Amino acid sequence: MSKNSHLGHQAKKRFGQNFLHNEAVISQIVDAINPEPNENLIEIGPGLGALTEPVIERAGDISVVELDRDLAHRLRHHPFLAKHLTIYEQDALKFDFGSLASPDKPLRIFGNLPYNISTPLIFHLLSFKDKVKDMHFMLQKEVVERMAAGHNCKAFGRLSIMTQYQCQVMPVMEIGPEAFQPPPKVDSAIVRLIPHKSIKNPVNNLKTLNQVCLTAFNQRRKTIRNSFKKLISAEQLSSLGLDPSLRPENLSLDDYIALANFVDEHPVNKET
Ligand code: SAM
Repeated sequence: MSKNSHLGHQAKKRFGQNFLHNEAVISQIVDAINPEPNENLIEIGPGLGALTEPVIERAGDISVVELDRDLAHRLRHHPFLAKHLTIYEQDALKFDFGSLASPDKPLRIFGNLPYNISTPLIFHLLSFKDKVKDMHFMLQKEVVERMAAGHNCKAFGRLSIMTQYQCQVMPVMEIGPEAFQPPPKVDSAIVRLIPHKSIKNPVNNLKTLNQVCLTAFNQRRKTIRNSFKKLISAEQLSSLGLDPSLRPENLSLDDYIALANFVDEHPVNKET
């Protein structure tokens, strides 16, 4: 049997398949999720069921989204799991998670995510945040660090701003490569995301905030005077209380919110 085979399944690199096999780690993750009966639990990428099985033991029936047809087929015929699962054999990047929510049953989404698509998947999931109670994900440790980073840190960027604007970000635990089969080349971490119920300092337009972040962090070594040249002048930056000689990572989330609202309220600047 090949070293990348687990429970008779050959791991597929293109689907980011690294299967959890350490029972102690699995139970710590499930404790962190804390699944309970009658909740609206959805797992992304159940794979061979390492997390699915203990979650079902605690919570009962759940829904899963799995793209690999071989794995979806295995789950459909699994002697214990099958009757507890609603299986969506679909791409989580395109899946309408909102369709599974109801007002009295907000979503609790979790998964050991395929690392090759984790950032676009997080952005896709954030678009359903109003219907989500919480999310627990295994990600590359470096991605969790970027999500949780505060300003003035190297890891601070668009992912930090867009995630923290919409959610409370709580790193939960770190996990080494040996907990997986095959082991990934990177360290991993679990993060808990809890969407804010209300946003104290809202942006007029989330797309503008995203655009401002893209502009700022496209060249993160530039001063904001240079990176925002086409969007907002040095004088205007100063009028917002921002020193034009700062670098993008030196501005706080609130500074980015102020910048996005300024750009939104001065649309002419977008064109100049
Ligand atoms: N949950 C299992 C575990 O912890 O052992 C497997 C985790 S593995 C890192 C990622 C899983 O996501 C695999 O089952 C893979 O087939 C699935 N997957 C990959 N890309 C996907 C996508 N776009 N949509 C849904 N599932 C996907």
